[in-house]
Amino acid sequence: MAEPSAVVPKRPESIETRLYINGKFVESSDKKTFEIFNPATLEKIADVAEASEDDANAAVAAAKAAFPAWSALSPLQRGGYLKKLSGLVIEAIPELAYLEAISMGRPVIEYFEGFATAGAFSHYSEAGYEAQGTSSLNTPGFVNMTLRQPYGVTAGIIPWNVPVLFLANKSAPALIAGNTVVIKSSEKAPLTSAHFAHLIDKAGFPPGVFNIISGHGPISGRVLSHHMDVRVLSFTGSGRTGRLVQEAAAKSNLKKVVLELGGKSPAIIFEDADLEKAVPETVRSIQFNSGQVCMANSRIYVHESIAPAFIEAFREQFAASVKAGDPLSSTTNHGPQADKIQFDQVQAYIKAGKESATMVLGNESLGQDRGYFVSPTVFLDVPEDARVNKEEIFGPVVNINTFKTEEEAIQKANDTEYGLYAAVYTKDLSRALRLATALESGTVGVNCTSPVTAHDLPFGGYKGSGLGREGLTVSIDNYLETKTVLLKL
Ligand code: NAD
Repeated sequence: MAEPSAVVPKRPESIETRLYINGKFVESSDKKTFEIFNPATLEKIADVAEASEDDANAAVAAAKAAFPAWSALSPLQRGGYLKKLSGLVIEAIPELAYLEAISMGRPVIEYFEGFATAGAFSHYSEAGYEAQGTSSLNTPGFVNMTLRQPYGVTAGIIPWNVPVLFLANKSAPALIAGNTVVIKSSEKAPLTSAHFAHLIDKAGFPPGVFNIISGHGPISGRVLSHHMDVRVLSFTGSGRTGRLVQEAAAKSNLKKVVLELGGKSPAIIFEDADLEKAVPETVRSIQFNSGQVCMANSRIYVHESIAPAFIEAFREQFAASVKAGDPLSSTTNHGPQADKIQFDQVQAYIKAGKESATMVLGNESLGQDRGYFVSPTVFLDVPEDARVNKEEIFGPVVNINTFKTEEEAIQKANDTEYGLYAAVYTKDLSRALRLATALESGTVGVNCTSPVTAHDLPFGGYKGSGLGREGLTVSIDNYLETKTVLLKL
């Protein structure tokens, strides 16, 4: 993820709330809508179309009808649409930043994902020729080969914390490989995806190739995950829903499922760590996006010999790092939690944490008289099996515990059902590599922590944090079938 950039937000001429199916903007078939409130002001900002089961089916049918012609285009022809879309995304960043700020409370100065989204479409616009099979002369009397072919209709179900980037990460590789796409946005943050549909429209994609629907998971999300014509479903969201999606795939057509799920990521701080870096970086990890980040380091294990110094510096810097306020303001870096459900969930965990551990930071006044703001919260001496140490909180709440030995640190870090990201701070290279090998985690940062990632390397989870990998150099593979052709001479 990128550093804050100077986005000047702009209110779109009108806020799009409709579905985009088969190249047309439409209301939901049963006219149902759901409300979106600004989590900073609690004012209502929109009534958004709730895709019905019929609407989800219509989107899949449109994508299915569009598939033969789209997949018959060359990668160069398909890439032209993606390239155009990339440019349109760059132009739309002020509007996208505005819409995310008012719908899920993302501070505009932290709105990095417009550039990352444009980058994804730009990258994949030229990646189509990577879809290549192999050939083999290893069976006497045969010239054999494999073909890589698109699956057909693919779907993406995305969360609310970084919506447009997930929309891009799921659609761009699928499209360039020749598949057609249905994206379902999150009911908590649907406005940027709905706005994005106008960019798809302006880029001139043939009708049905790229569809966007909004609504709740148990309605339209459920249809997509059970649909017999959806061949790949890439899901980012909670482990609970990920399991439902996997189950739906098993019960329907065994569609290929990619799951990017939650985390409870550890950061391990050894006695030789550079605290000048380790403290602000681990603070940033749990503060960014108000802690609503799958890979945030929500568990910190610090060597007991440096624990007092680390904890004091962390507490001070975490408290001082936060500038809460209107997410549209250029001085705000700490927005509210996305909605009342998220706010209540975080508060419930803080209450549970107070009962099982020692709170050394929390309940500070952020100077806001309304809105779902949560102040930075730090717990010490948290029992390893406490709920706040086992479950994902998704707020600016961190547990700091101590360890004596390397073995103990590894054991505690791995004692979780999650495995998305782990960080190690040490100057000892051998130790860093021992830890990188031992930690059960899809990504290990050495002397760095989340949200630092490498766009060209695979991202995904061990254990309950997911299934499969995404990333600029790997995602296209998720959307290509492999066929063996035996050619007898
Ligand atoms: P969520 O699981 O509640 O919802 C995610 C999406 O699934 C939404 O679009 C929702 O409408 C849909 N959905 C809900 N029920 C469904 C059902 N029965 N069938 C099909 N779809 C359904 O998650 P969330 O609260 O939106 O997102 C937060 C979670 O996402 C956290 O756990 C976070 O760690 C995780 N996340 C993971 C990554 C990653 O890359 N690993 C990135 C961001 C967020």
